[in-house]
Amino acid sequence: MRKAVCPGSFDPVTNGHIDIVSRASQLFDEVVVAVGVNKSKARRLFSAEERMEMLEKVCAPFPNVSVAGFEGLLTTFCEQHGIRAIVKGLRAVSDFDYELQMAQMNSSLVDVETVFIPTSPEYSFLASSLVKEVATFGGDVSGLVPPDVLTRLTQRLAERAAAGEEDRS
Ligand code: ADP
Repeated sequence: MRKAVCPGSFDPVTNGHIDIVSRASQLFDEVVVAVGVNKSKARRLFSAEERMEMLEKVCAPFPNVSVAGFEGLLTTFCEQHGIRAIVKGLRAVSDFDYELQMAQMNSSLVDVETVFIPTSPEYSFLASSLVKEVATFGGDVSGLVPPDVLTRLTQRLAERAAAGEEDRS
């Protein structure tokens, strides 16, 4: 049984993530989408539970894909789950330097290979951080995230904006 992990923060999941997960699901028998829940990254828009809930919904159509949280090292998660492949999407050359270093570090820690899948051209500019930034200023991100994520994103940003107004008054 060939198992792979697609790791990330998914804050929130975008159509670019789904593209990679869906393509990985065709290459491997089982794919685990692993959501980093490290406490040090406190500046998330969505909690780990919310990010996992959104992922579970969008991954439901893929029968061999599951969602899990992980804390600490991804390589420890891989060892615990008998996973030998880490799947990462590569958007541009700018992703490559960091991803290569990370891949080499991970394979020096445990017996794991990183498999890079080139992003589909229509998603090559897509990043969760940019989606949040554009949406914060009222930009239309409806083509970039699933409908349920769009609803939650709009709601969360409105809550944040209201809280910000309260702080200033
Ligand atoms: P991180 O928290 O590591 O920055 P993200 O949650 O934003 O990660 O993304 C997780 C992984 O999903 C990335 O490391 C990358 O492999 C992949 N990814 C993100 N956005 C895209 C995209 N637009 N196209 C292809 N792959 C992507």
